[in-house]
Amino acid sequence: MTRPYDDDTLAVRAGSLRSEFQEHSEAVYLTSSFVFQNAAEAAARFSGAEPGNIYARFTNPSVTMFEQRLAALEGAERCVAFASGMAAILATVMGLMKAGEHVVASRSIFGSTVQLFNNILAKFGVETTFVSPTDPEEWRQAVRPNTRLFFVESPSNPLTEISDIRALAAIAHEARAWLAVDNCFCTPILQRPLDLGADIVIHSATKYLDGQGRVLGGAVLGSQTLMEGVYTFLRTAGPTLSAFNAWVLYKGLETLPIRMDAHARNALALAQWLESQPGVARVLYPGLPSHPQHVLALAQQKSGGGIVAFELQGGKDAAWRLIDQTRLMSITANLGDVRTTITHPATTTHSRMTPEQRAAAGISDGLVRIAVGLESVDDLKADLQGGL
Ligand SMILES: *Cc1c(COP(=O)(O)O)cnc(C)c1O
Repeated sequence: MTRPYDDDTLAVRAGSLRSEFQEHSEAVYLTSSFVFQNAAEAAARFSGAEPGNIYARFTNPSVTMFEQRLAALEGAERCVAFASGMAAILATVMGLMKAGEHVVASRSIFGSTVQLFNNILAKFGVETTFVSPTDPEEWRQAVRPNTRLFFVESPSNPLTEISDIRALAAIAHEARAWLAVDNCFCTPILQRPLDLGADIVIHSATKYLDGQGRVLGGAVLGSQTLMEGVYTFLRTAGPTLSAFNAWVLYKGLETLPIRMDAHARNALALAQWLESQPGVARVLYPGLPSHPQHVLALAQQKSGGGIVAFELQGGKDAAWRLIDQTRLMSITANLGDVRTTITHPATTTHSRMTPEQRAAAGISDGLVRIAVGLESVDDLKADLQGGL
């Protein structure tokens, strides 16, 4: 879709609604329901003949502002907001698929997403085949006559593998399936999957869209037609984003362009520095020329993003020692925060995998993931220096 303004402008202006009080900063509408002028208006709202708010499980002006601002940034016809990223993924499948249909998904996706496909959706007759994020041929081979959805995250967590979104969209469309991209790591500031041919974009707004680690939220974006199915599930089942969280999130979007650029600038500087440190076996950051998919990454992303992974020669002991001697970085698995976080994937986010599964996925015991925040990069280097 053509966008009327640049990101910087859309982030602070798109989707603004004003009440009769003409507030300058967008208000938060804490109300569960809405009143009508008369019985005829109530009837028209309920029948859908007239647009407008009825009940906050369906719509709320605060949620609408978040949806419209994010839709403008992603270049999507429509956005539907959710209480969390996982609710957004669930609603995509529940709204668009039925029992007996099939999903092809990347093997390198968020742990709860794997559980959702394997343990929950499988019970309702939706089967998933997991394939390599970096080999489009595997996706083609996995297609069945009943395949409806391709699901991918790029870059992946924690190895920052890049999937060729254009190639996957072409294979999905040949198979008459939709491509959904979880765009959590890049946000629309660094990557717009719909422009690359994807049909659906999914967000955990909990991460960079909030940006300060305050609230949970999620979103699904795409064409009016597809989002009607997703919205119908929301309206009926009720995994609705709260008005307060929506307000936090649309205020968060205002600083998203400058934050994403600053995250990426810090991450690149830290990744370059890590490459020259003793004891570091390899650094995985899409913005480095040494990244195996550097060229593809920069063909579809504006920059390498804010996540850096690296492997220590000393294995788990070295990784734990490095993590434990940091004073500034937060030891937590969360990401997308202004504060830098440091994680040991093998014993936290990926600990439920068997050692063999981890080895096959390339997640070694010496691997450390840093979600680079907005502190001074010199202070971040100093925080790591003593442990390397
Ligand atoms: C965190 C995350 C999710 C889940 O989002 P919640 O808001 O925690 O439900 C989904 N995908 C990715 C890539 C994530 O990082």
